[in-house]
Amino acid sequence: MPKTKTMKQKSRKFLILAMRLFVSIRNQTGFSSNLQFSIDAGDAGLDVDTDLGHAIKIEGGWKWKTKVGMLYEEWGKLRFEETQESITGTREWAKYNYNIQKGCSNGCLYCYACAMAVRFKRVEPEGWLTQVEDAKAVLKEWKKKDGTIMFPTTHDITKSNVGQCVIVLGKMLEAGNNVLVVSKPSPECIGLLCNKLEKYKSQILFRFTIGSISNEILELYEPNAPSFQDRLSALAHAHIRGFRTSVSIEPILDYQPYQVVKIVEDHVTDSIWLGLMNQVKARFKFNGVSEDILKKALELTAFWDDMNVKHLYYLVKDNPKVRWKDSIKKIVGIEAPEKVGQDV
Ligand code: SF4
Repeated sequence: MPKTKTMKQKSRKFLILAMRLFVSIRNQTGFSSNLQFSIDAGDAGLDVDTDLGHAIKIEGGWKWKTKVGMLYEEWGKLRFEETQESITGTREWAKYNYNIQKGCSNGCLYCYACAMAVRFKRVEPEGWLTQVEDAKAVLKEWKKKDGTIMFPTTHDITKSNVGQCVIVLGKMLEAGNNVLVVSKPSPECIGLLCNKLEKYKSQILFRFTIGSISNEILELYEPNAPSFQDRLSALAHAHIRGFRTSVSIEPILDYQPYQVVKIVEDHVTDSIWLGLMNQVKARFKFNGVSEDILKKALELTAFWDDMNVKHLYYLVKDNPKVRWKDSIKKIVGIEAPEKVGQDV
């Protein structure tokens, strides 16, 4: 599944708030001394030694490059200009995301959530397969959010947690939210969701991940996830039941992703997303993947060079349901969305 909201994004938000507060304090108190500058910055939660780079002389004063934008001191006034954050991963699709457990039994080798958990020593790679429910997250009461909620992002909806997923989704939807339900779907789980959540149909968009039509390839990269036939059957079921449906071919797991597009398109009411496998070496290393499989994955990512991505683009770009993730947009020259969660 695509990556979730990271600590980096959270601390970015905090730094921007701190920077604005700092500018406001400084503009009210005036510039008395460098010492005062440091104290004001400290009050605003900024460590000027680490958050501000070297001052560069400009007309009327100075400017500093910070981690989250440029800070200007011009003619005795401070001004802050935030840099645009690149919108990738889950944030391309939804403004909010939500999960109710740690770990995921699918054990996808490219899993970003697993790689981060291993990197920050929250789990050993093999421990990721053990799903640990967060009971508090299941019980949370929901209000209406000002954007789509993606559920889940760091685990899947499986036979062992589908009951809890129904409870959580029911609460989110009852509060009036729009939810993007993402899964490598099993027909049993999707059948149950369709039965239990039928009355919220207009608020749900299903997005099913299908990176290849080959079970051999799916088993290699997503060892415990449902087969291609099961995913297709779940997709067809949701479609027949009148739910809105979409497919994510991200990461592309083989050399002919247009085969997936062809096979799923009649069951898709909304969109078919294509995106490349990212940061293979680092993620596979954290996830404890063998050298043999890493070699195969590197062959695959080497194949998807700019030329082959552009070829794929020209092959399917006229299909009105096809959308491109950030990894492909960059190569074919499509502008990134300006706001999070636009799903375009
Ligand atoms: S399905 Fe589970 S293991 Fe696979 S990428 Fe998503 S969170 Fe990771």
